[in-house]
Amino acid sequence: MVHAPLRPPAGAPPVRINLYSDTQTRPTPAMKEAMMRAEVGDEQHGDDPTVHELCDRMAALMGKEAAVFLPSGTMCNVIAILTHCSKGDEVVAHETSHILHSEGGTHAALAGVQIMPLKGPRGMFTAEDVRAAIRPRTRYAPPQRLLEVEQTANIGGGAIWPLAQLNAVADVAHEQGWATHMDGARLMNACVAAGIAPKDMVANYDSVWLDFTKGLGAPLGAVLCGSAEFIGQAWRWKQRLGGSMRQAGICAAACLYALDHHVDRLAEDHANAKALARGLRQIPGVVVEEPDTNLVFFDIKGCGMTVAQLQERLRLRGVAVSGLGGRVRACTHLDVTAPIIEEAVLEIRAALAAA
Ligand SMILES: *Cc1c(COP(=O)(O)O)cnc(C)c1O
Repeated sequence: MVHAPLRPPAGAPPVRINLYSDTQTRPTPAMKEAMMRAEVGDEQHGDDPTVHELCDRMAALMGKEAAVFLPSGTMCNVIAILTHCSKGDEVVAHETSHILHSEGGTHAALAGVQIMPLKGPRGMFTAEDVRAAIRPRTRYAPPQRLLEVEQTANIGGGAIWPLAQLNAVADVAHEQGWATHMDGARLMNACVAAGIAPKDMVANYDSVWLDFTKGLGAPLGAVLCGSAEFIGQAWRWKQRLGGSMRQAGICAAACLYALDHHVDRLAEDHANAKALARGLRQIPGVVVEEPDTNLVFFDIKGCGMTVAQLQERLRLRGVAVSGLGGRVRACTHLDVTAPIIEEAVLEIRAALAAA
């Protein structure tokens, strides 16, 4: 079993067009300048002023009392679940959710929770679906404690939960006495595309986090927000998991820079994603979902080639895309421009024509 990251195939040229993920951006020169200028201290000891500034800004942006800086989004999810739940509890989430598929079974391994997977188009479910998932409160049934949603829904196609639906599912959870948690890895994409302020988008969620490495261009970092009580408990788990850091302000400075300079421009990524979808739709056999944000999913079953074969052919042409849920996924981000999109369409058309 290979657990280490894979290296590029032998003889593959450098990646010229990287649509693999919005996580593969490099810090810009201006972001690096901001990192170099950062005032730092011992974060674990509460002495890093730049981390405090980032947490204060994030708490205000999300309309929550407090926030904590963590190295990754995965750690935000696991700490949120550890904080909200006890062993044997159940978390209600979509069947395509990141916590279920892409976090190495962390929630079972570390929090001892089970996840009840709900169905629904584009990574979303309805208030009715949540009602239908409510278990009787008997000693036979696992205690249900938490509702989790992803905004945007990743495998759902980068889809944006409409605000009314987000609020409706959270209302059902709260009626049952459950907590609500939002995986906001790409929350800013949703807020920019929908024109809704983050604090309004997350008002009905007890905890929420944002990833600074998804399209926002920071080298690492995510911020988890919630009540002062919740963040206090979250700090205990941060310490236990080894997520307490030292001069982390050097990274928090990159996140602050991203908040100031890389949020509004997400609209360009969304326009580029739409252009990519339009271009791909012209290729015979390709079925493209209309993107809400920066993720473009397309089906190539009609092209006589598997997703892995297309990935390999494209990689040999210097183009990287990912495969997710049986489809091809192409992400737009900071390093992708309109001319790159035009070239990507030509490359994908050529790679598929070889079938
Ligand atoms: C990437 C991602 C995560 C995990 O974030 P990392 O920073 O990679 O640990 C969690 N949820 C969703 C929806 C994601 O896309």
